[in-house]
Amino acid sequence: MNPIQRVAIVGGTHGNEFTGAYLVKKFEQHPNLIQRSSFETLTVFGNPQAFAAATRYIDEDLNRCFLMQDLQNADLSSYEAQRAKAIAQLLGPKGNAQVDVLVDLHSTTANMGLSLLLSARNSASLQLASHLSTINPLVKVCWTHPHPESMLLRSLCEVGIVIEVGPVAQGVLDAQWFQKTEELVHAILDYLEACNRGMTPLMQSPLTLYEFIGTIDYPRNSLGEIQAMVHPLLQGKDYEPLHPGDPVFLTLEGETIPYQGDNTVYPAFINEAAYYEKGIAMCLTQKQLITLENL
Ligand SMILES: [Zn+2]
Repeated sequence: MNPIQRVAIVGGTHGNEFTGAYLVKKFEQHPNLIQRSSFETLTVFGNPQAFAAATRYIDEDLNRCFLMQDLQNADLSSYEAQRAKAIAQLLGPKGNAQVDVLVDLHSTTANMGLSLLLSARNSASLQLASHLSTINPLVKVCWTHPHPESMLLRSLCEVGIVIEVGPVAQGVLDAQWFQKTEELVHAILDYLEACNRGMTPLMQSPLTLYEFIGTIDYPRNSLGEIQAMVHPLLQGKDYEPLHPGDPVFLTLEGETIPYQGDNTVYPAFINEAAYYEKGIAMCLTQKQLITLENL
């Protein structure tokens, strides 16, 4: 990893995800907690107005406003479009960021535990993820196959990482997840400090990587109304194998709908509250093992 000079910690990107929002507020009150001797750490509060209203966003999802063309489009004037441009000015520009590592703090209503979502499958991100999952085996690591262009905030930076913790309800501050997220942030900062001092812990064991391969929506009628729920046998089973034929939905009338894919998949974000409006009942991942030789 190249020497790290600046790290950004972002919280409150979604205004009703209180874990990251209050953690960034804490770091702003006690900046010494996140300072390390070999690099600078800055904090960014993503969406202050949505936080004040305890809602995910005001006009649109801030974490979908980071397409290059949108950041450059002066005509886009929603509150979140303006926040995205301000954040990109502070941390970006996209593709040539002023920060070397970006950590964006989120929470989920799904049973995702301590999840890391990587913006890119580069060596620096994988080494960091491997280190974090080695010191804490509860850490799960996800990766999205890069689209030509990502609209996510973390895509501002090549080493852009989301910490996604849950299950926690929207608009709720849960001490357990607050402390676990804080521990993970410190582990990231300590790792980067060690790297800067030439003491990079090398990947010891294979890294389990969950690669996002698609999403499934709830069964809906012609009006778009939901006709079935996540099956009780699948609820809370994030990262567990879902085989063809396994129960996936339960209709309002009580009929089981099986998974109709051809291969075993590992769902995540199962029944995430914020994704109902996006037409996503769950994300599907493939489980991979990455070894040092593959990097
Ligand atoms: Zn979020």
